Amino acid sequence: AKEGGRNSFQFYNDSFFEKVQRRVTLEQELRQALPRGELSLVYQPTVCLRHGNVTGIEALLRWQGPDGSLRSPVEFIPIAEDSGEILAIGRWVLAEACRQAGAWHEAGLQFGRIAVNVSAVQLRDPQFADDVLAICQRYRWPTDRLELELTESALMRDTEVLRRAFDLFAANGITLAVDDFGTGFSNLAYLHRFPVRHLKIDRSFVQQLSGDGERMRGLTQAVVTLGHALGMAVVAEGVETEITLDLLRQQGCDEAQGYLFTRPLAPEQLETWLRVQPG
Ligand code: C2E
Ligand code: CA
Ligand code: CA
Ligand code: CA
Repeated sequence: AKEGGRNSFQFYNDSFFEKVQRRVTLEQELRQALPRGELSLVYQPTVCLRHGNVTGIEALLRWQGPDGSLRSPVEFIPIAEDSGEILAIGRWVLAEACRQAGAWHEAGLQFGRIAVNVSAVQLRDPQFADDVLAICQRYRWPTDRLELELTESALMRDTEVLRRAFDLFAANGITLAVDDFGTGFSNLAYLHRFPVRHLKIDRSFVQQLSGDGERMRGLTQAVVTLGHALGMAVVAEGVETEITLDLLRQQGCDEAQGYLFTRPLAPEQLETWLRVQPG
């Protein structure tokens, strides 16, 4: 950028400085988020397309920053991954989700599995699998009712650490879901290498279903067919309309999740929602 002269350097410098500054601030605040109790979980159910019953509940992380603003996980998870803070945050998420699930179970609510999002960084941590089992034990949550949601990229590398973790999960009945399925598509070999129970079709595909997108219909149908051929159940995320739901049902999709049923809810609200569900 030498030939750009003083002005372009100045321009670059300003925006870059602002970005770095915001990033550093976020990183510092994020380190305080756990001890300050600024993190919480909201919960969104998945529903069976054949019988209408609740098959599971996904825990989703929320962060109310020191200024009171609610921050999106899309924004802060990548920062937590870079700084390593995701390891402590991820353990907290698992513990809190298992604790809450146990409390709901105690209260007589039926909801199937509890699902927790797991970052690729957590999965690479050699301690991770043992931590998961220890957390289930601490909250006396049955391991066969815990599902870990992983992205395709987390499953691309077949390492010793990953192998051992998946062996431990399989031995304890902890299931895996591939999240955002369809956005990575580069290599499907991992799908039968690892014990994946659920494929979650990314909502970017699901939400184009009801338009005149013939190609999108072909795509979701292909995912359903592929999933079933591999012995997996297929879950559609981001279902917002009855039209989309009907199309997914016609395509043989097994479960759905989205605003049509409910937005992610705080624990007390989800409890109320669960109480009015059939069977
Ligand atoms: P995700 O796992 O794909 O979660 C689904 C996202 O879609 C959630 O966004 C949810 O609120 C949103 N959603 C659900 N139904 C609908 C719908 O009908 N329409 C639309 N437009 N959106 C819907 P959220 O809660 O902002 O989370 C975003 C992403 O952040 C998650 O995507 C996940 O990748 C990540 N994330 C959330 N919590 C955690 C966590 O505890 N750990 C990790 N590592 N990642 C997390
Ligand atoms: Ca997820
Ligand atoms: Ca997803
Ligand atoms: Ca997503």
